[in-house]
Amino acid sequence: MVTGKASVLRSVNRGVVLGLIRAMQPISRSQIAKLSGLNPSTVSDVASGLLREELIYEKTAEGSGLGRTPVDLYLKCDSHYVGAMEIRASVSRVAIANICGKVKSHSSLPTNHASPAQTLSRCAEELLALSDSVGVDRPRTIGVSISGVVDPNKARLITAPSLQWENVSVGELLREKIPLLENVVVGDAVKASALAEMLFGNRVTDTSNFVFLSIGKSVGAGIIIDGRIVIGDHCVSGELSHMAIYEEGLTCECGVQGCWEAYISDRAVSRRYMTAIGGEFGSGSDVGISEIVLRASKGDAVANLVIKQTGHYIGVGVAAIIRTVDPKCVVIDGSIADAWDLVYPEIMKALDERPLPVKGKFVDVFPASEANREYLKGAVALALQGVFNDYKIMNANPWKELR
Ligand SMILES: [Zn+2]
Repeated sequence: MVTGKASVLRSVNRGVVLGLIRAMQPISRSQIAKLSGLNPSTVSDVASGLLREELIYEKTAEGSGLGRTPVDLYLKCDSHYVGAMEIRASVSRVAIANICGKVKSHSSLPTNHASPAQTLSRCAEELLALSDSVGVDRPRTIGVSISGVVDPNKARLITAPSLQWENVSVGELLREKIPLLENVVVGDAVKASALAEMLFGNRVTDTSNFVFLSIGKSVGAGIIIDGRIVIGDHCVSGELSHMAIYEEGLTCECGVQGCWEAYISDRAVSRRYMTAIGGEFGSGSDVGISEIVLRASKGDAVANLVIKQTGHYIGVGVAAIIRTVDPKCVVIDGSIADAWDLVYPEIMKALDERPLPVKGKFVDVFPASEANREYLKGAVALALQGVFNDYKIMNANPWKELR
């Protein structure tokens, strides 16, 4: 009989081994043992299970010398397929991807604000049609990314102001439509992007502690600690828009003074630029963030200054994040990151000026990887979490019950 604790450990080990194969392939069993700290016999057991599941395959390493011939393990990319959905205010997108994260087919449809059930039902139908058209088995795991507050344990959307949706049982609604569906992993868009950075980004693979900062309409963060995304007791970890950085500073849209959002959101940058050129912000002729970045790259002195100021304000908040989380790196996503040459030195200067337990230069700060901007990467990452880790076990915090 497998006890609760044994099954949790098995699931954790399986996730660790699969994660290493995915990130480092080709990789041998002994390399996995060395990197993970797992016992070599445990790695062998897990690998045998994964071979039986046909999630991986093995091949004799080429050019090996004398002695025992090393055998490398690889992820079997097209052995399984997952579904991905991204629900946005105007349009919802769906895709079928293989377990290496490659999107095989995708489609989009308008989001029906009046009916979450109808939107999800149509997304489910579209997903089934896509899997049939690609000629693969219907997905048993689906990742769903939504901009809003999400309870991943219950596969439920708590609230999404941009959609005006509240209390939507995403998991249940999809299960009704998709037969044999085993796992629905629902996540908010920022945390999903953080996971995508962990799985597909090219610079965070060597760390299990980092913060993914998304700057746009608002400011949100996906906090990864020990390789796991932090959800929080009320599912709102990383909501950093209204973190105070100047107590008596600019008035934020929430009515409070000095919120981070009032300094670094796309609207804040646009407002600062419009004011600097003597224009009237909000009159309908606002210059948007992308245009400001473009103008800065072409030598517009005002745009240049506004972007640099934004870099400074980003640094002020990043210092607070570093103090709280102690990450190895902070990854920044958003249009402002397109002006990296201008913002990066200002962020690092702001970090250097502040007393930090570790100096800013020991914490890497870099822009989100290109891979993260690919189609539906966040939703695909959520789905892969469901395949690589037994997400239901991982999320239910079994340790609490086992204590
Ligand atoms: Zn605020």
